[in-house]
Amino acid sequence: MQIARLSDLADPHACPRLVVKVGSSLLVGHDGPRHAWLTGLVAEIAAARARGQEVIIVSSGAIALGASRLGFDKGGRGSLADAQAAASVGQIALSALWAGLLEAHGLVAAQLLLTLEDLEDRRRYLNATATLTRLLDAGAVPVINENDSVATQEIRFGDNDRLAARVAQAARAQAVLLLSDVDGLYDRNPRDPAAKLMPEVHGVTAEIHAMATGESASGMGSGGMTSKLQAAEIAERAGIALVIANGTPDAPIARALDQGVGTLFLPRRKAGARKAWLGGRLRLKGALVVDRGAAQALQKGSSLLAKGIAAVEGDFQRGDALAIRDATGTTLAHGLSEYDADECRRLIGTHSNEQAAILGYAPRSAMVHRDQLVLL
Ligand code: GLU
Repeated sequence: MQIARLSDLADPHACPRLVVKVGSSLLVGHDGPRHAWLTGLVAEIAAARARGQEVIIVSSGAIALGASRLGFDKGGRGSLADAQAAASVGQIALSALWAGLLEAHGLVAAQLLLTLEDLEDRRRYLNATATLTRLLDAGAVPVINENDSVATQEIRFGDNDRLAARVAQAARAQAVLLLSDVDGLYDRNPRDPAAKLMPEVHGVTAEIHAMATGESASGMGSGGMTSKLQAAEIAERAGIALVIANGTPDAPIARALDQGVGTLFLPRRKAGARKAWLGGRLRLKGALVVDRGAAQALQKGSSLLAKGIAAVEGDFQRGDALAIRDATGTTLAHGLSEYDADECRRLIGTHSNEQAAILGYAPRSAMVHRDQLVLL
């Protein structure tokens, strides 16, 4: 059974495994955690469990909570050092909060702190999958956040929206519910009175991207609509439904799912698990810029040959993940390189019968083999 409407997220047959992401501004008020609201949300999570759904929580709020305890200004986001120190203080409080609230419903909380690298490295990704599966089988409720205290700027997810989509993929969940401080995606700036809420999105196209503005409405989280759309793209490719809904009202899950207020991003195509993981990668080691002929061949399912490469960017090794772009800078695909960057540069524009002489060994069949490539 596929997810086709918002109410399906509450259906244990259509959605046996659900990821719920809670943003910082919902969790933390001016004077600390918003206990009453959180108690209501946890009651809804317990109700989902009681109807037979497994739930994974992705919780932001460590930085905001820590900043309020330490008296840091700018919500703890004044510098990377502030954010990391605030996250250390906030995370321990955040865990205690979730554990206590879940415990009141007889549910066991399990904490996982992940960095981008944990989900981008294939082996660590599979480890995270195994741990999540075991926890869910054992009846625990995983509560996940980014490991902000150790992640440096370039290895941070930067927002928990994409983390939630990646976690859903690792956990093989059917849907992600992003609870935010807006009702969903609007067709234009929501401050414009003519703006309309989009109930459903079939494919995150350039037109859909154009509807989003980057800022986070609360200024507390780091997300904003742009990162939610990136999360929707990751989910879509992995065959996972994603919903953006307003977490501000009491009982927000029921409001979104029963009353149908929110934006549902339907999964468009289901790539195989490995290709979906590759397509959702956020950290790439370099890029291959291709000509028009190669771009067309890729769309038809061909491998990428050296002949169609116009430029090589970055310093990478054989087996590293690369972006494949056209001359306008549009990313067409992600793929694993068959060669290291220097070899790629030497092979630009060559035919396979010229390559053995350049390389000094028998060439591989392609620069990026179609089995190691996913179109975006
Ligand atoms: N991981 C951050 C925290 O717990 C929040 C990231 C975000 O803004 O979504 O504070």
